[in-house]
Amino acid sequence: MSIATAPGTGLRSKLREHFGFQRFRPGQEKVVRSALSGRDTVALMPTGSGKSLCFQLPALVMDGSTVVISPLIALMKDQTESLAEKGISAVAFNSTMSPRERQEAEESLGRRGKEFVYTTPEQLANREFRSLLRRTPIGLFVVDEAHCVSQWGHDFRPDYLELGTVIEELGRPTVMAMTATATDEVVNDIIRQLRIPDAEIVHTGYYRSNMHLTVLPAAGEETRRDRLARLLGMESGSGIIYVATVKAVGELTEYLQGLGFDVVCYHGRMKAADRAANQDRFMSGEVPIMVATNAFGMGIDKPDIRFVIHANLPGTVEAFYQEFGRAGRDGDPARCTLLYASDDRKLHSFFQSRRYPDAEDLVNAHHALRRIVDDTPRLEDVQAISPLPKSRLKLAMSLLRSKGVVKEDLSGHLHLLQPDLSRDDLARLVRDYADRDARDRLKLQRLVDYAESRACRWRYLLDYFGDEDADVSTCGHCDRCQAGGWRS
Ligand code: ADP
Ligand code: MG
Repeated sequence: MSIATAPGTGLRSKLREHFGFQRFRPGQEKVVRSALSGRDTVALMPTGSGKSLCFQLPALVMDGSTVVISPLIALMKDQTESLAEKGISAVAFNSTMSPRERQEAEESLGRRGKEFVYTTPEQLANREFRSLLRRTPIGLFVVDEAHCVSQWGHDFRPDYLELGTVIEELGRPTVMAMTATATDEVVNDIIRQLRIPDAEIVHTGYYRSNMHLTVLPAAGEETRRDRLARLLGMESGSGIIYVATVKAVGELTEYLQGLGFDVVCYHGRMKAADRAANQDRFMSGEVPIMVATNAFGMGIDKPDIRFVIHANLPGTVEAFYQEFGRAGRDGDPARCTLLYASDDRKLHSFFQSRRYPDAEDLVNAHHALRRIVDDTPRLEDVQAISPLPKSRLKLAMSLLRSKGVVKEDLSGHLHLLQPDLSRDDLARLVRDYADRDARDRLKLQRLVDYAESRACRWRYLLDYFGDEDADVSTCGHCDRCQAGGWRS
């Protein structure tokens, strides 16, 4: 335990030796020291600020292996490859492995003594995998992109709700949660879901002085496209155009290609191989423009993205900030433009209305469970007979569990503790979610306010995030600061 008594000894030399960096960036050293002293730590740092290093460095110094939960396979691949280049041993467990690769990874676990184990929450749902991990001493448990834990987070994933239990099962290693989203609700959810009430919270602030923010009015589809084409005509570097729907990705890509722009596209419903190919072409710089839904970009580490254009209004200020934050990671100037029409918000009421389980979902889930409860089913068995899509069933089940209606035992069997609930009883249980729905609408309104505000764009965002430390009354380089009025 020499580390605990002298946290951070020689950290700079470790930084140079393993990563080749001369100094820490803001916040990094504080996060590293906190984790090394054995404290659970939540790091709230902007995209591109270097969160990976914050857990990779302590992991190298501490005893035991490190589990890193990552929401995306692509992200995992980038990180394990870059660790391998540095001669650091890392293994990734994900759904794309062949049985043979999996077997090799399993055998290497534990044999090498200490390593990085990258995986997804979905993999951890597998009991055999968890028991494999239990046989390896784990010193550090990292949840990267930790806002996925929170139902307030814009990338929420139901499987993240189980991580608190997994952490206990693995003997409570030190927990680190890393995210660029830092509203109180998200942070509170992270702390509650991961069960780390005493965590140290390190927050470096939101301001990024190299980002130039602009909102352009774009009422009507034609104006929107026209604006977009003109903006692209003025850009020379790489950039991302975010649009709201899969359909719009296709249409816009075609339109821009028709005008002679070199464009690739990306959305969640493309074949994995096509998606990966397009991502590679954009990342390598071969094609400068990416047209995508918000499925693209989490963890994308391309330092020289010069612009992000939102062709449609995102759902929340958090999502907007996270998405435009993919530009300008190298610190050079980057432009972030939101095309805005006041009726954009209509798009969102559709998505929002299906985000949370409703009374009907609970009735369905409860009914399905009642039909097969004598066979002590697992979640998969309920899925097989339920009409609900998988993700909605999971949300419904997790709500039923949190309300004590259903219990899952250690071997994953479900027990229905309250089989006789009426439809009204179940409807009462979803009231929390109805509140959330109202909050979502409010969040969207705050982004509309951003678009319509006459104040400095950065000041608006910093106020929204409650960032009092940032020394910015006017940034001097957003459209508001420069023009002082509504341009049209
Ligand atoms: P985040 O996860 O916060 O979005 P990453 O961990 O992907 O950011 O890091 C972004 C980039 O910053 C990477 O290219 C990384 O190598 C670089 N980086 C991290 N820490 C430092 C540092 N102390 N000095 C210089 N570059 C750094
Ligand atoms: Mg990251």
